[in-house]
Amino acid sequence: MANSCGILGDGSKAVKIHHLVKAPENTPKSISFRESWDASRPVTVYKTPENLPDGTPCTAATVILRSKGCAWWWKSGCTFCGYFNDVRDDVSADDMFSQWDYAKKKTNQFEGCQMVKVYTSGTFFEDRENPPEWQEIVLKETAEMGLHLVVEAQAQMCTPEKIEWVAARHPGCTVAIGLEAYDDSVLRFHVNKGFTTKQWHRAVEMLRENDLRVKTYLLFKPPFMSEGEALKHTTSWLVDVAKYSDEVSVNPMNIQKNTIVDRLFRNKEYRTPWLWSLVEMIKRAHHEMEGVNCRIIVHPTAGGKIRGAHNCGSCDSEVVAAIERYSVSGDPEEFNHLECSCESHWRAELENDLNLPVTLGFGTFRRGNPTDLVRAP
Ligand code: SF4
Ligand SMILES: [Zn+2]
Repeated sequence: MANSCGILGDGSKAVKIHHLVKAPENTPKSISFRESWDASRPVTVYKTPENLPDGTPCTAATVILRSKGCAWWWKSGCTFCGYFNDVRDDVSADDMFSQWDYAKKKTNQFEGCQMVKVYTSGTFFEDRENPPEWQEIVLKETAEMGLHLVVEAQAQMCTPEKIEWVAARHPGCTVAIGLEAYDDSVLRFHVNKGFTTKQWHRAVEMLRENDLRVKTYLLFKPPFMSEGEALKHTTSWLVDVAKYSDEVSVNPMNIQKNTIVDRLFRNKEYRTPWLWSLVEMIKRAHHEMEGVNCRIIVHPTAGGKIRGAHNCGSCDSEVVAAIERYSVSGDPEEFNHLECSCESHWRAELENDLNLPVTLGFGTFRRGNPTDLVRAP
């Protein structure tokens, strides 16, 4: 046959879509940016107010390490995750130890803290990502200092041997898993998560068997989903996963550089969520979860900015502050006084999203005069 076969291709190996989409992230410029980081210093170390597992308010230190990064990202990667911007694939065990020493020195051995979150932009106890001898030191030292430890993991990286190993070195620590959505189709087609809800359930069982605490992250408004659908689905996911978790942290989408969501956003095919949707989700879930012993946490990263969850521009800081307060107090009365004219604009958008067949939703640019926004360009 002739050379041209049209959509049947020419017989050569097919290229996966994620290689095409991710190609610019692996350009010399992008690589040299990643490799410009100092591998002996962590990305950041800071303290925030938190709650201990029994609900007592405390101070938590967060240490974000410059690791080799998530094995899943190197293979494929979640559509929204920009953690790879902060990692170096040549980080050595020595570097990881000096980053950990730096964090201890900077916080004066975690002075005044009762909790420490050690985040590695991937799975803490995955040996390809982080050296096992380093994992062991962090687990043991934090246990000896009497600090409650929080680490992150992907569900499929939780194996019975590894979870047992972790629990023996730091009994009772919290393992946070980024489930993002409690729906296999969304996990596969919207998030590209790399594991299923079944694998997540298996991981949760392993953690429970070893008396470890379960923290679950959900993503508010994955790509290819309207605002109305996001509110409806995330609220029901939240209520469902709360039964299996000690705490659920819902992360409203924020657009991280060089991700697939970033491309959609720049192409006007994605809008970050409204802050009003987060308030509504919390109110509905709080009401439905009465009697369930699970804390809901929402920290809108870049809240009030165009790349984070935002409203009209004038009410944003007040709404973000109320959401942050709720995350610590767990009291829905934090939202009682909130009021702004953009609320009706948001309600109309939800109504349209849920009643008219427009997959990506009706959302438009929401800063400025709402009447001008609905006028034809
Ligand atoms: S969200 Fe987590 S699992 Fe997904 S690519 Fe990022 S670090 Fe890896
Ligand atoms: Zn407003």
